Amino acid sequence: MDPGFEARLARRKEQVRLREIRRRRVIFGSVGVLLLLAALAILFVRGAGEPGGPGGGGEPVASPGSDANEASKPKTRPQRGGAKPDGTWTAQKGPVPILMYHVIGPPADDETYPDLFLDTADFQSQVDWLADNGYTAVTLVQVQDAWYDGGTLPPKPIVLSFDDGYLGQYLDAMPILEKQGWGGLLNLKSEGSDLSSKQVRKMYMAGWEIGSHTITHPDLTTVDAATLEHELVGSKTQLERDLGIPIVNFCYPAGQYNDEVARAVEAAGYRGATTVNPGLGERSMPFELNRIRIDRGDGAEALATKLSAAGA
Ligand SMILES: [Zn+2]
Repeated sequence: MDPGFEARLARRKEQVRLREIRRRRVIFGSVGVLLLLAALAILFVRGAGEPGGPGGGGEPVASPGSDANEASKPKTRPQRGGAKPDGTWTAQKGPVPILMYHVIGPPADDETYPDLFLDTADFQSQVDWLADNGYTAVTLVQVQDAWYDGGTLPPKPIVLSFDDGYLGQYLDAMPILEKQGWGGLLNLKSEGSDLSSKQVRKMYMAGWEIGSHTITHPDLTTVDAATLEHELVGSKTQLERDLGIPIVNFCYPAGQYNDEVARAVEAAGYRGATTVNPGLGERSMPFELNRIRIDRGDGAEALATKLSAAGA
């Protein structure tokens, strides 16, 4: 790895860490006092009191000690989309393009997989092009809601999916999408990604869908049945416990799957799964959803070409 890149990355991570610490200090300081007062007031009014009704819990980001709260709280918060329905949304069951991104940011000179990197400026120009051409980024759960449950979609829906959990997805992609009122689909390894649970929760709060990408990112066609189940069920359980939201969709690591793996994904309780097969996502193939791969150097023009080649 280029030492300059390593240093920049380390510096960036450190900046994010320090910002988190400063933010947490402010929140914990003021929220702590308020919570104490609130707790005293509740005890005073209700005595020991019975458990509160649903919806009483705080938002996942700001409540201190939320890790402990999330574990015991029922998963009542749904997955949701960044884009908000308006009068232009209609019932739709047609195919939807799902874009596939990995790292947003520049690769080091000796990076082993430079094609997985997309410069932030290129990502920005793609998002601008999508907005200028009438596209609205929605989440996969919004697409499934329209496909299977009578929900609605904007005139030109598209899903922007991001695999693995890289820092640039939080630092660069999230703010760029947020300016459009859009969210992405984060396909997250439940262990060993760049992102902390807190950062992932912020992405969820910014309108992202969080999907599972296994625990350890193995080739699922080569593991035994027990490992397969552990990777599928374990990652779902782990993410649901960490984030306090239902995990609905799955993404095959490196796009590797076969009939047995697809059946196990369905049996594990997922509603859909994304592949690296080229094309549009189709309602009739919930566990073999095609995606359009975005490569290094792709700007607005390449995106437009790839979308029209896929039939969007
Ligand atoms: Zn992956």
